[in-house]
Amino acid sequence: MKLFQEQEIKIYNSLSGQKETFKSIIEGYVGMYVCGPTVYSNVHLGNVRTFMSFDTIYRYLKHLGYKVRYVRNITDAGHLENDADVGEDRIAKKARLEEIEPMEVVQRYTVDFHNILNTFNFLPPSIEPTATGHIIEQIELIKTILENGFAYEVNGSVYFDVHKFDKTNNYGVLSKRKLEDLIHNTRELDGQSDKKNPQDFALWKKAEPQHIMRWPSPWSDGFPGWHLECTAMSTKYLGDHFDIHGGGMDLKFPHHECEIAQNEAAKGKTPVNFWMHANMLIMNGKKMAKSTGNFILPTEIFTGDNKHITKSFSPSVARFFMLQAHYRSILDFTNNGLLASEKGFNRLMDAVKELDSLQLAETTSFNVLEWKQKCYDAMNDDFNSPILIANLFEAVKYINQIKEGNATISAKDFEVFKSTIHTFVFDVLGLKDAAKKVDSGTNKLSGAVELLIKLRQEARANKDFALSDKIRDELAEIGIQLKDGKEGTSFSTT
Ligand code: AMP
Ligand code: ZN
Repeated sequence: MKLFQEQEIKIYNSLSGQKETFKSIIEGYVGMYVCGPTVYSNVHLGNVRTFMSFDTIYRYLKHLGYKVRYVRNITDAGHLENDADVGEDRIAKKARLEEIEPMEVVQRYTVDFHNILNTFNFLPPSIEPTATGHIIEQIELIKTILENGFAYEVNGSVYFDVHKFDKTNNYGVLSKRKLEDLIHNTRELDGQSDKKNPQDFALWKKAEPQHIMRWPSPWSDGFPGWHLECTAMSTKYLGDHFDIHGGGMDLKFPHHECEIAQNEAAKGKTPVNFWMHANMLIMNGKKMAKSTGNFILPTEIFTGDNKHITKSFSPSVARFFMLQAHYRSILDFTNNGLLASEKGFNRLMDAVKELDSLQLAETTSFNVLEWKQKCYDAMNDDFNSPILIANLFEAVKYINQIKEGNATISAKDFEVFKSTIHTFVFDVLGLKDAAKKVDSGTNKLSGAVELLIKLRQEARANKDFALSDKIRDELAEIGIQLKDGKEGTSFSTT
């Protein structure tokens, strides 16, 4: 019997607004699509949070024994500055500003994205398709939507006819918006004059002469609309109807609403059983976002080089910090939150390390099986990682009690206990014990840098700032950054 046959998962479905029992379309298999990044800039910690939520969900589904096909795309064309089909292509704009090829922009930030996710110990998706690699599929979809009468062509561009669609279907089914309300609330934007109605969205846009990212099509030399790529790529690899579609909350409307409309218009069916939306990481009360400058980069967390933090934090501590919040809750990024998570993370890792030195006994003074099921129950309840972590701390308490001679565990229960801890800490939450990675060479390096930090402190105490700056600058030159904070000086390497 596979674990998924024993454990019943409930998932909050944005479509119904309720937690529903998860049943995959084909028993034992899960198809999951998550909207990937638009690769025109470095991913910020907010982006990482959303991808981390789905990485953890992917890990848990795999742990339960599902064969998961996880598709996460790379948006390398078609995403304009403004979601209402106006403005420059984000990638083309960056290419213009930096005087490089759009594909150089794409390459640079795709590599950055992969490096960052790797640092956070993400599992790679099963397929990572690109929008530019699926232009033909997108053109075919447009043809079908046109044939089915849900789109129209104007001056070489093709638009989805939202008003016509809403007569037979429900535009707003996911975001719970009503077309009449949208009509009242939509502002006319420049460049929308071709559309019959401002609510319509582009499936294909004719490229202006200066637009570099262009492909031939039956309608014009142009480029696909942003929403279309996800319909084309999700259904190509997962079928016209698949299990889970995820993304950040901010993608629910218009992006995901339009995906539903496109699929229904092209294939006559709703694409997805479970729509899942991860909530936002905020900082100073506002959504973390590239466009407003209110963001922090993952590398700044690792180096401590950002005014919002007093020291550097390891990727696992940052991961732990984010998983201590439920994926559907807003998470406030604060230095104090990270400091508290670091303490908790270290306590958890110390306890995990203690496991092998525990004295085993004849009897067990703790209900290990009940505790184990509580760990599953937490994840089964819409992937409730904070409750799972609370259960892991219950285990930490128990480990410490055994160590102090105030509790006991038998050899048989120990095996279950240890493997459950390892499963949830490493396989499901994807945490890594930082110390494990440190080899003896790195230990020696740490020792040497700590010594230099001490000498620098002495130099500063003696007001020998020339020497203290020299130590800091010369270490920086060889790739070791010192960061002074309230907690003392820490260092990081690049
Ligand atoms: P983008 O590259 O802008 O398309 O964003 C990639 C993913 O990051 C999307 O799923 C967004 O919803 C998500 N995202 C953007 N900002 C945040 C944030 N502050 N917190 C959590 N997720 C975010
Ligand atoms: Zn998408």
